[in-house]
Amino acid sequence: EKFEDFRLSSELLKSISILGYEEPTEVQAQVIPAILGKKDVVVKSQTGSGKTAAFAIPLCELLVWEENSPQALVLEPTRELALQVKKEIFSLGRFKRIKVPVIFGKSNFYNQEKELKQKTHCVVATPGRILDHLERETIDVSKVKYLVIDEADEMFNMGFVEQIEAVIRRLPQERVTVLLSATMPENVAGLCSKYMKDPIYVEI
Ligand code: AMP
Repeated sequence: EKFEDFRLSSELLKSISILGYEEPTEVQAQVIPAILGKKDVVVKSQTGSGKTAAFAIPLCELLVWEENSPQALVLEPTRELALQVKKEIFSLGRFKRIKVPVIFGKSNFYNQEKELKQKTHCVVATPGRILDHLERETIDVSKVKYLVIDEADEMFNMGFVEQIEAVIRRLPQERVTVLLSATMPENVAGLCSKYMKDPIYVEI
């Protein structure tokens, strides 16, 4: 299979090629068309499988540049992962000029607030801090159409489940939800059945 088979825009194909990705990984081959088809997807897969680009490529393709408030929200367990994922989305979205602020705790709230007031397409965040912004109404999520819950099992282990649910409840119901996890314990499966619509299951 080739990236060209997914009928991606020339902007995306160019950034994929600059990153040196010659062909889709197994997880990408299944997840990219599912998200492009606006399906909810549950992905059981390890780091190193190319799972980040598996959601970042279709997200970048689907994001509409003209919209000013965020269309996608990506939740990550740690600041390090959030920064890493932001970097990948930024690199893939460079020719579409996709704006990707990263929002995590122990960092200046007011600076984040200012960044969130500017044009943004995709927010990458840790659950606690993005919930603070939602509660203080310093982020407008009315245009969010895509939610990615990355490393769901890690976020459960870190005790983020209530924050994640509080975030999800504040998002528009009409959306595509993608959940990724290395393992699928009962609590993660429960989150899927509670907040996802007829998801496609991908296991690598
Ligand atoms: P991840 O599983 O998202 O942590 O990705 C693992 C590594 O694979 C990252 O360093 C990516 O840059 C790289 N990668 C992702 N997709 C591809 C691809 N299609 N071909 C080659 N490398 C890739």
